[in-house]
Amino acid sequence: MTGATRVLVLNAGSSSVKYQLIDMVDGSRLASGLVERIGESGGRLVHAPHGREKREVSALFADHAAALKAVAEELTADGLGLDSPELAAIGHRVVHGGLRFTEPTLVTEEVLAEIRRLIPVAPLHNPANITGVEVARALRPDLPQVAVFDTAFHATMPEYAARYAIDRRTADEHRVRRYGFHGTSHQYVSRATARLLGKDPAEVNVIVLHLGNGGSVSAVSGGVCVDTSMGLTPLEGLVMGTRSGDIDPGVVFHLHRVGGLSIDQIDELLNRRSGLLGLCGDNDMREVMRRADEGDAEAKLAFDAYVHRLRKYLGGYYAVLGRVDAVAFTAGVGENAAPVRAAACAGLEELGIAVDPELNAVRSGEARVISPEYSRVTVAVVPTDEELEIARQSFALVHQT
Ligand code: ADP
Repeated sequence: MTGATRVLVLNAGSSSVKYQLIDMVDGSRLASGLVERIGESGGRLVHAPHGREKREVSALFADHAAALKAVAEELTADGLGLDSPELAAIGHRVVHGGLRFTEPTLVTEEVLAEIRRLIPVAPLHNPANITGVEVARALRPDLPQVAVFDTAFHATMPEYAARYAIDRRTADEHRVRRYGFHGTSHQYVSRATARLLGKDPAEVNVIVLHLGNGGSVSAVSGGVCVDTSMGLTPLEGLVMGTRSGDIDPGVVFHLHRVGGLSIDQIDELLNRRSGLLGLCGDNDMREVMRRADEGDAEAKLAFDAYVHRLRKYLGGYYAVLGRVDAVAFTAGVGENAAPVRAAACAGLEELGIAVDPELNAVRSGEARVISPEYSRVTVAVVPTDEELEIARQSFALVHQT
């Protein structure tokens, strides 16, 4: 590979920016880091150049522009500045691509305007993603900026899985449908799982369980997503760290009419004070498991509710796919919490699903099989790498245009 081979991946959140500089020759990280508490006191930049000491900068980062400028300075100090001719593109994680963006997309004014138009369906995420693009573009106006959408991989869901069973006209007028999220991770992990099985993605059916702070499950058939647990917003589906996941919409009416809560208060309740946190006061699965082991009843209930929902999706997507070749656990909880994996798969031998306790207990950063030899379905732990996937897709787009 010759010419510019590096991609800077930016993931801009409402008050943070995460970044990785990746060399596409071998996928290696040249640097990574994050800026936290942008626009607040106690701002912090942690910069980790590959093979060198990590550096920390504490400062007030007034806005995303100030934060990215500071990142650019750190990169320059390592000889990896944004002015480098080796930089091929900047790849941006953009959460909501609506119906229009189903592929990685070169950012133009028109594309930015469309991402802006989607803000009502992604009010927490798209504004920060847009800011990330604008600031990066100001720093290197000549460089291709590529948007990689969290929703894109799910665009193949059949209409009957994507539609809510509500009045069509109302739904269409407000663009209400199931979009799904974490798509970059589901795509990466479903392909990596096929590789682990030594097969082509087109040959295998995989259920991917992405269990991080947020969590979602997807059913992937022959490399194509056919259903996923998140919907119009990332609130639907699993019990998550702080989100309720599936809930009777009647709860919202009840809390509003009878409980007197405003719509904003209910939004905050379901997004930030529910899930594991709502059930037991802790949203970190490590803490929930530690307390449950000590006999704490609330933590045990939170763990059981989390696993119960997961099993419902596992069983449901088994039925959706008809034949399942692999179940893949990924993200913070999926990669690290052996008890969650064991509980999610317990008693499913009739479905061909089993977990070997010894293999499940192995700690490793590698993709690995945790089911016994005899298991018809391969159960695996497959570490996700959304940044590498964003970099790959951005690089591929720049090279084909
Ligand atoms: P995000 O959704 O923020 O990207 P991650 O995929 O990094 O989240 O997952 C973060 C979550 O992973 C933490 O909240 C924690 O509950 C869980 N986690 C991380 N390490 C462990 C571990 N060793 N055991 C159990 N859970 C873990």
